[in-house]
Amino acid sequence: MQIRLPGQVGTIITTLENAGFEAYAVGGCVRDSLLGREPEDWDITTNAKPAEVKSLFRRTIDTGIQHGTVTVMFGKNGYEVTTYRVDGEYEDGRHPKKVEFTGSLREDLCRRDFTINAMAYRPQDGLVDCFGGALDLKERRIRCVGDAAERFGEDALRMMRAVRFSAQLSFTIEEKTLDAVRALADSLRKVSAERIQAEFVKLLCSPNPDRAALFYETGLSAVFLPEFDDCMRTMQNHPHHCYSVGEHLLHAVKAVRADRTLRLAMFFHDFGKPRVKQTDENGIDHFHGHAAIGEKMTEQIMRRLKFDTDTIRKVCWLVRSHDLKIEPEKRAMRRAMAAAGMELFPELFEVKAADISAQSDYLREEKYEELARLRAVYEEVVRGGDCVCVKDLAVTGRDLIGLGIPAGPGLGAALKKLLALVVEEPAYNKKEILMTEAERIWKEEQSACPDKEEEKEPNS
Ligand code: ATP
Ligand code: MG
Repeated sequence: MQIRLPGQVGTIITTLENAGFEAYAVGGCVRDSLLGREPEDWDITTNAKPAEVKSLFRRTIDTGIQHGTVTVMFGKNGYEVTTYRVDGEYEDGRHPKKVEFTGSLREDLCRRDFTINAMAYRPQDGLVDCFGGALDLKERRIRCVGDAAERFGEDALRMMRAVRFSAQLSFTIEEKTLDAVRALADSLRKVSAERIQAEFVKLLCSPNPDRAALFYETGLSAVFLPEFDDCMRTMQNHPHHCYSVGEHLLHAVKAVRADRTLRLAMFFHDFGKPRVKQTDENGIDHFHGHAAIGEKMTEQIMRRLKFDTDTIRKVCWLVRSHDLKIEPEKRAMRRAMAAAGMELFPELFEVKAADISAQSDYLREEKYEELARLRAVYEEVVRGGDCVCVKDLAVTGRDLIGLGIPAGPGLGAALKKLLALVVEEPAYNKKEILMTEAERIWKEEQSACPDKEEEKEPNS
């Protein structure tokens, strides 16, 4: 079996070998090469110690020197070169508590999670595959190296990784490995939120995000996302729906483009439903207010999973807005855009389309047509350059200060009033009109609160 190594990887291997060491490409890059996929990064494993690696290359970074990893830099490209090691038990971080270096490639491969990730390659002796990784690749399955329960006992994150790789590669999880996930799912509690988040996001952005169902089936989501389990258990008896809330979410995630924000928004968009479900006298289920509650839950969950605030803000807005009704005419669209204070409308339309595709086919064509009209109106507003935010107003805060409006909350409120006016009537977005209007707003404000003036001149 032949793998074409990038030139710089070849150089690293040869350099180490010329100095009397062994070196191999290892792990994900070997797996992806054998699958005909472009590896994201190339990792190298070697019996050279970190200090020895550093002495052989001009530019290196101490990425995780205590775990044996040095990054070798060629221009902008970096390659992680790690000394053969045997891992102890993992702590609640990304790395094992203590590692021991070893002189044996086989022992290094032995510490790796799955057979497909435990292969090494160097040109002169080809593939080193001690645990049947190539066969598992061929038969498209995820299997632990050695005893699955033992391996999950060392690092519970591997259970999330099994599900994630099955989604990325469209592989099945071998029976004993899957049994061990079911048996040990609860021990995921020991793993940090950051590590769980990374695997969760990789699964969502994969070609099979609907394999998140495995989180529910194995008991993993009971640990890190019990709200999802509630969705999986919540039925929807309604003409617009044909799935449980959870299954609807899975279909919807798969239907949307594989963008991190969109996939997260789709996954969470109906999380509020189990909390507000009401069944009427005809047995029809209703979920009034689910978007607002869903937004709150999404924020809580994403904080818990340590997402960054920018992603949380965007995903929450999409969750809150997924059911937003906007009349397909320009004024209503401008109002919605001004109220949003966030330019995520193209994404919102993608969310709405994916949502529709995951509902029953009742009125589906009509829903798509309505959405297409809405998109057209949105594009018309954007093309026309209509002002929908304060910074597009024909006046600035400075202009208003020039009129005598003091900087502060009053100024912000005046600008908002001007925006509301322009949103109703774009032709008003002219400096002289808005200046006159601002003066009027300010006078009104002052006559409404005359005591403020008195405070300034107590003796008059
Ligand atoms: P990708 O980069 O696409 O996420 P990968 O297989 O390269 O996939 P990495 O997290 O980059 O995954 O890890 C590189 C290699 O390190 C893996 O292929 C595997 O051999 C080993 N590895 C990573 N994480 C673990 C773990 N938690 N337990 C055991 N081995 C692991
Ligand atoms: Mg990798």
